Amino acid sequence: MKTAVEIRRHFASDNYAGICPEAWAALAEANQGHAVSYGDDSWTARAADLIREVFETPCEVFFVFNGTAANSLSLASTGQSYHSVLCHEFAHVETDECGAPEFFSNGMKVLQVPGTNGKIDPAGIERMVKKRSDIHYPKPRAVSLTQATEVGTVYSVEEVKAIRAKTKPLGLTLHMDGARFANAVASLSVKPKAITWQAGVDVLCFGGTKNGTPVGDAVVFFNRDLAEEFDYRCKQAGQLCSKMRFLSAPWVGLLQDGAWLRNAVRANAMAQRLHDALKEIPEIKILFPTQANAVFADLPPHVIVALRQAGWKFYTFIGQGGCRLMCAWDTTEDDVDRFVADLKRLLSEAPKEISLRAADHRKL
Ligand SMILES: *Cc1c(COP(=O)(O)O)cnc(C)c1O
Repeated sequence: MKTAVEIRRHFASDNYAGICPEAWAALAEANQGHAVSYGDDSWTARAADLIREVFETPCEVFFVFNGTAANSLSLASTGQSYHSVLCHEFAHVETDECGAPEFFSNGMKVLQVPGTNGKIDPAGIERMVKKRSDIHYPKPRAVSLTQATEVGTVYSVEEVKAIRAKTKPLGLTLHMDGARFANAVASLSVKPKAITWQAGVDVLCFGGTKNGTPVGDAVVFFNRDLAEEFDYRCKQAGQLCSKMRFLSAPWVGLLQDGAWLRNAVRANAMAQRLHDALKEIPEIKILFPTQANAVFADLPPHVIVALRQAGWKFYTFIGQGGCRLMCAWDTTEDDVDRFVADLKRLLSEAPKEISLRAADHRKL
């Protein structure tokens, strides 16, 4: 009996996408014979070396299962349980990790800093640090930036340096959540080193999953002192993969001939195409500059419901709300055009008065 499987690409998340061909091929190649376990294998050594090549610097590299672990464990390594981490109010570490940074650091508090377009206002860092110096306040120890941000914007090199100009004199470690780091590099057309260690980033969580691996993100310590005993932290947290070659081999596939950047360039270009189509529609308001692979837009509520009834999946709860339309490495021009065509048809057809229950609005 044959089961019909609908092949469709959505705009909900770049983690809806599958494994890109380059990562898949490397995974298949790694699946031959035996290899040493727990990361002492040649695939893991090669993947770490490729990361060092990409960043053009010696750095310590660790592979973990996901971004939440990468962020939480790397932030934990920046200080003690009584310290705090400053991040933007929309930051994934604050809004989408179920308290994992606090949990894995045994209590470090995450404190929010405001800023437009999902980016931390550098002045806010100093305010948060200087507003209290007494023992009753969790002492700020690190700043976490998200690059690209949760609302699809990108910090320029100058903006990262402006953050560093605040963190450095205040003795704060600079952490970068790079779940979509590739999209930021593609967007800025800069060398990876220019927006990381050369701009003062101490540790980067380099996202692979949304860029085309099946699973697994990398923690890259440019400040190698922070990496001390990080292997123990990973193991204790259940993040040391015994068959590590299957986490690391897809990275070799992504990095060895530049697939990671090609994937990001495509995803960004599709978001731009979507943005350009949506901005022509008067009923739609674009909420943030489209600088990476996401478009955020306000759509009339009845159209959101109708689009979902037509089978499209997208989120409406990220950042300040609005619809988040996320493109992936495999999003095509045709996907974008079909979505836009459905949207236009539903805008003209859908009844004007649909009462929108909160449940419908939030349904993925
Ligand atoms: C997806 C994402 C992560 C990682 O999430 P996991 O589900 O734990 O892999 C981290 N930060 C940002 C900004 C993300 O979008």
